[in-house]
Amino acid sequence: MNIQKIEQILKDQKQPKFRLGQIKKAVYQDGISNFSEISTIPKELRSVLEKERVLSFEVEKVLVSKDGNSAKALVKLNDGNKIETVLISPKTDIWSVCISCQVGCPMNCAFCATGQTGFKRNLTAEEIVDQVLFWKGWLLGTKSPIGDLVPRRVSNVVYMGMGEPFLNWEEVLESLKILSDPKGMSFGSRSISISTVGIPGGIEKLTEDFPQVNLAVSLHFPQDENRDAFMPANKNLSLEKLKIELEKYFQKSNRKVFLEYILFSRLNDSEKDAKNLLGYIKSFEKPQLLHVNLIRYNSSSNNQETRDKKQKITKADKFVSSSSEQAIKFRNYLLENKINCTIRRSLGADIEGACGQLAGKK
Ligand code: SAH
Repeated sequence: MNIQKIEQILKDQKQPKFRLGQIKKAVYQDGISNFSEISTIPKELRSVLEKERVLSFEVEKVLVSKDGNSAKALVKLNDGNKIETVLISPKTDIWSVCISCQVGCPMNCAFCATGQTGFKRNLTAEEIVDQVLFWKGWLLGTKSPIGDLVPRRVSNVVYMGMGEPFLNWEEVLESLKILSDPKGMSFGSRSISISTVGIPGGIEKLTEDFPQVNLAVSLHFPQDENRDAFMPANKNLSLEKLKIELEKYFQKSNRKVFLEYILFSRLNDSEKDAKNLLGYIKSFEKPQLLHVNLIRYNSSSNNQETRDKKQKITKADKFVSSSSEQAIKFRNYLLENKINCTIRRSLGADIEGACGQLAGKK
């Protein structure tokens, strides 16, 4: 919802200031998706606002996974660019919205489909918040194909869709304010998580501007050599420098940080790799504040083998997911060494809505 525009209309219509609060309540909290349906404002104002759309974009398609636990929306922005946004239910009665903050991503991690599409532009705070608004309305809508599960409301928001939040901090920060504002969407800060690949100064900005939300770091490789090879961002913020930024964060916030670790077969899933990860974590002053989330690699059609007319392989997926046995071994090694660790269930892989599969194409 474009707040500035609404404010201008209210001013032009010589409406009292409290009208904005009524509109915000109706849209952000009650999930009303049409200004004409806001019963708390005068009829004349409704008919003026009727011409405006609540969402800043159009949703072209919604795909629902077979198990009904996730859905992915293809969104067409006003300038024709496309992004994806995902709704997942990791547990009964819990709905998390996974939002994008950029069109594409400039980070270019070798295993991530978003990076392969290149970077187009940053999203505005409005475009970020509208993804949550869209899913809120979709869950409330009677036509949503996801059963009769209750409660049909969004419980969490994770910035784990397309893009790198700390490269679009101003707009992300503005969106965080709207999402957590008691007069906005009123999410508790603890229900919001930001994930970063690690950008110099990024975590510091979070600590200064919005320390209440959860922080996740996409680590994936506990040694610079491998991290450099597959995650170019590591060249600007090596593991040692990342550690310094995290130690500062711990000193100020004393809050837990999640380390995301994708398990790739034979690349980073051996006992030696687990030992390296353990060494990295143990080198922190308070290792107990780090929680490892293991995710098995999700393949995507963007990374998969493609063949030319002569059936010659032109592009092959060089990454293979670890087996679940290997994931359990890896986790157990960390647990035995007193490191908090969980294996994250991957949701929405059949609709290419899982981590690292968002390419803004289908
Ligand atoms: N740029 C931020 C936000 C994106 S979050 C970040 O990197 O943290 C998306 C998460 O999915 C990241 O942890 C990312 O590393 C992970 N991911 C990317 N490709 C993946 C894949 N193919 N399988 C599983 N996870 C993947």
